[in-house]
Amino acid sequence: MIQPNYIGGEWRHASEAIANINPSNTNDIVAHYAQATHADVQDAIDAAATAFPAWSRSSIQLRHDILKGIGDEILARKDELGMLLSREEGKVLADGIGEVVRAGQIFHFFAGECLRLAGDRLASMRPGVEVDITREPVGVVGLITPWNFPIAIPAWKIAPALAYGNCIVLKPAELVPGSAHALADILARAGLPAGVFNLVMGSGSVVGEAILRSDNVDAISFTGSVTTGRKVAEACVASDRMKKMQLEMGGKNPLVVLDDADIELAVGCALNSAFYQTGQRCTAASRLIVTDKIHDSFVERLIDAMHGLVVDDALKPEASIGPVVDQRQLDQDLRYLRLGQEEGGRLACGGEVLARATPGFYLSPALFTEIDQTMRIAREEVFGPVAAVIRVKDYGAALAAANDTRFGLSAGICTTSLKYASHFKRNAEAGTVMVNLPTAGTDYHAPFGGRKGSSYGPREQGRYAQEFYTTVKTAYTLPA
Ligand code: NAD
Repeated sequence: MIQPNYIGGEWRHASEAIANINPSNTNDIVAHYAQATHADVQDAIDAAATAFPAWSRSSIQLRHDILKGIGDEILARKDELGMLLSREEGKVLADGIGEVVRAGQIFHFFAGECLRLAGDRLASMRPGVEVDITREPVGVVGLITPWNFPIAIPAWKIAPALAYGNCIVLKPAELVPGSAHALADILARAGLPAGVFNLVMGSGSVVGEAILRSDNVDAISFTGSVTTGRKVAEACVASDRMKKMQLEMGGKNPLVVLDDADIELAVGCALNSAFYQTGQRCTAASRLIVTDKIHDSFVERLIDAMHGLVVDDALKPEASIGPVVDQRQLDQDLRYLRLGQEEGGRLACGGEVLARATPGFYLSPALFTEIDQTMRIAREEVFGPVAAVIRVKDYGAALAAANDTRFGLSAGICTTSLKYASHFKRNAEAGTVMVNLPTAGTDYHAPFGGRKGSSYGPREQGRYAQEFYTTVKTAYTLPA
């Protein structure tokens, strides 16, 4: 059976479909998913535009109750949805379930935010005039999401969009339509008026482009690669109404380890940051910047710890790391493994394609040493379980290396020095800074986003999400 798109309050079948393949076992097809046509996308956008006037003025109690109900169902089904997520994306089951729980919590958080949206009132320069500042929904928002967080990223875009009164056209990544489809099924039964939420599955070049090119879409929230993000930005600026945009993109995140660090804690942070979830997190640390005196013992202990990681089928309880998401990503990882060595880096551990009981894209976590900041392996996002150790002489050199990148998503430091920790928090050029913590792993009530080439536009998540999903109106009144 082919899983259909959801357009204007109805499930719509399509003549074309793609197989959703389990990266832990390529013989296992999760399901087939409909591919939306250009006309389907237009219908979804029209439905959203038609639903917008009423939804944008709907009761905040109604919105609260709907979002709360969605969160309740997600949490009640966390094991089943987590299994689906791990099967289609390849992150280990505990992480799959954890991501589903996160999605449920996000819906609950924004159920509360519906009730908390506030305005402002200012005195006027002109006697008797009142100045009211209110926030209104933006309109029809196109949500374009990547494959590495198949339910959390759709959730952290959908929940604030609905909370603040917008209508949605969601295009999930073609590699992982299953979790988004399951979420759409929950939304379809949650009491939303027809057209408020629409799901269109398919490729970036057909479905994504149709959303970008439509004159009836008011705003785009995109998460994905820099290359695609640039195309999204160009299309938004070129459109007649100059769509509002929010872009969350790649990273080349540093984790600094100073001589005075608690070495056990630093190794744990590095292991988690670089390799958990197969290194396929935008906030993964792929540069481990380590000062001279601790360098050798840190590398030795990190390699020991890497040998303890079990790479296997994501659904096996003993697996600590699942497979790479697909053959294309595996080829990219292997290309960078070759490149790192050609550039003079030493592959100190891992980087081997592994055979397991089922055919899948298994790669052992890889660690390079003898890397300097000029090498491509230290400059470009690999998006796999591949990290490079960069040796530096002191904190000043570590900070300079950490900031020597076009990206700026997350940056971490392991140190017991309050002085260096405070200095790093202030001077790291990143949207998120972690002290004695992994570079990945954030809270859902706090703002998330980056700087430089990693992000463009307002932050996602927490109450900061209202910057993107609402637009500010300033009204001047002279009570006559
Ligand atoms: P991608 O850019 O290939 O695809 C992202 C989405 O854009 C997909 O839905 C895709 O179909 C769509 N798309 C592709 N071409 C398009 C086009 N021409 N027009 C419209 N849409 C198009 O990224 P990916 O491989 O799915 O995800 C990995 C990337 O995402 C990495 O770079 C990672 O760092 C980044 N990421 C960033 C964050 C963050 O919050 N900063 C979070 C997760 C992932």
